[in-house]
Amino acid sequence: MATSSDCLFCTIVAGDIPNDTVYETDTVLAFRDITPRANSHVLVIPKSHEDTLGQMADDDPTSVAELFTAAREVARREGIEETGYRVVSNVGADAGQEVFHVHVHVLGAQKLGPVGPGQR
Ligand code: 5GP
Ligand code: ZN
Repeated sequence: MATSSDCLFCTIVAGDIPNDTVYETDTVLAFRDITPRANSHVLVIPKSHEDTLGQMADDDPTSVAELFTAAREVARREGIEETGYRVVSNVGADAGQEVFHVHVHVLGAQKLGPVGPGQR
């Protein structure tokens, strides 16, 4: 499994930084965002390091599908599958990606605003 020693999320996968796990498989980990921006805000990451979702789509498309399957399971466990939720991934600088280990945000448990550039 690919890991990066200076990567925050690889450190979380290794168990060296505590996390609030919501769901886990052999290949995927889902845990609560430390700065929640919705009533439910969970990050879903592959355990194997990839920098961005775009890179991962090229390198390992099956793992991309696993992320979205896990996002649905997170929504089930959060009780928001029926009420609705948002799955988003920031890719690169303009999107504001802070952690360069692939992750999708699963947001819900409230009405969400329209998708867009947000506040500047
Ligand atoms: P990005 O901006 O890269 O799309 O999202 C990175 C997310 O990781 C942010 O929403 C941020 O709050 C979250 N985050 C940063 N450091 C930690 C941490 O140590 N633990 C957890 N659970 N989330 C973190
Ligand atoms: Zn990593």
